[in-house]
Amino acid sequence: MAGNRTFTMIKPDAVSAGNIGNILAMINKAGFKILAMKLTKLSSENAGKFYAVHSSRPFYGELCDYMSSGPIVAAILEKENAIEDFRKLIGATDPINAAEGTIRKLYANSIAENAVHGSDSDENSQMEGSFFFSQFERF
Ligand code: UDP
Ligand code: MG
Repeated sequence: MAGNRTFTMIKPDAVSAGNIGNILAMINKAGFKILAMKLTKLSSENAGKFYAVHSSRPFYGELCDYMSSGPIVAAILEKENAIEDFRKLIGATDPINAAEGTIRKLYANSIAENAVHGSDSDENSQMEGSFFFSQFERF
């Protein structure tokens, strides 16, 4: 299954702007199958754990505050070449640099409030999916 799964979150800015439906439609249209999905909210402690890899970066505190500021949608997605294809679909971290037609180009507010998360490796996708879902919640 290596390479066929990725993990995503629709972040608080996109949820509060009413863009869950638009973003899920783009994900489906791009050929991703949803294996698990929930509307949930991160505590600041859990946001800190999820983004522990960024703990030494200057934006870590703000990132944790923002990611715990409101509801998110967490999901595990399946498609051939999922990691790379999903990163292409969401676009660059900073929407200013995101390609036309990408989710971040369309829906991100800024480099911080950038609408969606996408895993950057098989290993992280596995860890991130397990952070939110038990084996009984996945198809
Ligand atoms: N981020 C930020 N400022 C930055 C870089 C990143 O606030 O200068 C936030 C942003 O929400 C980003 C997240 O931290 O999505 C994780 O950063 P990463 O470099 O992993 O970007 P991504 O993989 O999400 O494109
Ligand atoms: Mg990343």
